[in-house]
Amino acid sequence: MIDRREFLKKTALVSIGSIAAFSKSASALIQEETADFGKSKQSEVLIPVVISTWKHGIPANEAAWKVIQSNGRALDAVEQGVRVPEADPNVKSVGYGGLPDRDGFVTLDACIMDENGNCGSVAYLQNIMHPISVARMVMEKTPHIMLAGKGALDFALANGFKKVNLLTKEAKGAWLKWKKDTKYNSRKSKGHDTIGMLAIDKTGNISGACTTSGLAWKYHGRVGDSPIIGAGMYVDNEVGGAAATGKGEAVIKMSGSFLIVELMRNGKSPQEACELAIQRIVKKQSDYKDFQVGFIALDKRGRFGAYSINKGFQFALYRNNQNQLLDSNSYLG
Ligand code: ASP
Repeated sequence: MIDRREFLKKTALVSIGSIAAFSKSASALIQEETADFGKSKQSEVLIPVVISTWKHGIPANEAAWKVIQSNGRALDAVEQGVRVPEADPNVKSVGYGGLPDRDGFVTLDACIMDENGNCGSVAYLQNIMHPISVARMVMEKTPHIMLAGKGALDFALANGFKKVNLLTKEAKGAWLKWKKDTKYNSRKSKGHDTIGMLAIDKTGNISGACTTSGLAWKYHGRVGDSPIIGAGMYVDNEVGGAAATGKGEAVIKMSGSFLIVELMRNGKSPQEACELAIQRIVKKQSDYKDFQVGFIALDKRGRFGAYSINKGFQFALYRNNQNQLLDSNSYLG
């Protein structure tokens, strides 16, 4: 079994408690765990645990962990967690403050999934601060899974959500600068900082959430991978879960999160599954060097994995009362 004291001693070096964050390579931690699990009983688990994409995962994990610590459900944890960057105007890729599409509209995509396989999603939603909570309401209050555009907005307003202007002064300024510097018909969009979050609560149940303003300067009406169950995020309570960030089109093409969960179902570790999924993109999408995709994964024992095409992908891991920002390994080194 894992020598907790040894583990804590090692990770104390990289602990950030609940306030500050710094990063280190995740590979050492993954190797320690994989080796450890090799020796451990199958029943050994490292839960509860919360994992999420990027640096803004750190404060999001904090909010999720509070729910988990008070014996809350993983579903509530992931919803509360991702609401933090949704409301943060400094996060330029999620919710309020997100960079707009090429016509100046902030359009949001989000999805959520629980331990029973229930899921809900919203796409191309405008003027709502917390698309993740609308997605949850779609899941819990309608016979459907996905609502989009005006229908999603009407549903949100009818259910008590308030209409807000999501385009901050900074985001508008960045858009006006882009318009001046770039041809409107440019095929290029940018940005890859969606928050995807997976959590396993104290009872061992897993849930996931994913929310984004999508790629900046995207075509008006474009929907990415983040609201698509199985692409941007997927969980299966028998196996584990996965979430994606990066170029949504690349992730949709290979049903990234579903693929990772199925690889884990077939015996791969979360790390192996993330690496195989990235290799699938590399094999099938010849322009892979031109974009970023990153995946995170958790299995039901609480083991984690992360991998990306290009360098620079980071994720936040909260476990053993430590919230750490870690560097993912990447295909292109
Ligand atoms: N995956 C998102 C999208 O394609 C982008 C991101 O990760 O920020 O909309």
